[in-house]
Amino acid sequence: MTPTANGSPAEPSEAAAGSGGPTLDAAFFLRWLTGAAEAVHAEREHLTELDSPIGDADHGANLDRGFTAVREGFAANPPATPAEALVAAGRQLISTVGGASGPLYGTALRRAGRALGTAPGPRELADALDAAVAGVRELGEAGPGDKTMVDALAPAARAYREALDGGAPFARALEVAARAARRGAEETVPLRARRGRASYLGERSVGHQDPGAASAALLVAALARAAGGDEPPES
Ligand code: ADP
Ligand code: MG
Repeated sequence: MTPTANGSPAEPSEAAAGSGGPTLDAAFFLRWLTGAAEAVHAEREHLTELDSPIGDADHGANLDRGFTAVREGFAANPPATPAEALVAAGRQLISTVGGASGPLYGTALRRAGRALGTAPGPRELADALDAAVAGVRELGEAGPGDKTMVDALAPAARAYREALDGGAPFARALEVAARAARRGAEETVPLRARRGRASYLGERSVGHQDPGAASAALLVAALARAAGGDEPPES
């Protein structure tokens, strides 16, 4: 699909809600984070297994604890706005996950929430994803290829924006992002870790998938499902 002259996607069914796509409300972000919590819970053992050879075997338990707290927090205090949902979830993760990933994911969500603005649509979500990646990179001092969650998050943010720029509808752009995240996570296997606990292993970190990159791919896949997109197909 080609962009229209004013740069917004030629998607008449979605254009009614604003400049280039649906308005994303608090319910959308609740759907995402609830779906993310379910995915993390379902994959808890797998994430912990990934964290065994190159970490301390707590990543699944850490994230499951954190996302359970996020769900409980939402039940007790339903957020009124998208920004509130993300900032509250980020705060919960920082205080409950522990480990390196808690502050990193917490910062990512808080930064994303602040970048969303008051009436977010697909474009603002692209800004939010970029802000999340920037937050992780700053706090973790991690760049692409360091074998961290950045290796899944950064390609996802980039692929999402490129898909929107290319005229893809919202849900489709998120499917593309989910696939990029999963590919990025898989591509951490041959890398040598340069950040986090796995970096202590040096060469021995090679040959294992980074657990944080794997969990990041789960979170992006949940985002695609919240938008009504499919599970990213096997590739
Ligand atoms: P811990 O390593 O403290 O046990 P977790 O097991 O919960 O924490 O999370 C580990 C994941 O966190 C790693 O797989 C990696 O993706 C991510 N991570 C660790 N340190 C960094 C860092 N400095 N920058 C970015 N991501 C990091
Ligand atoms: Mg760990």
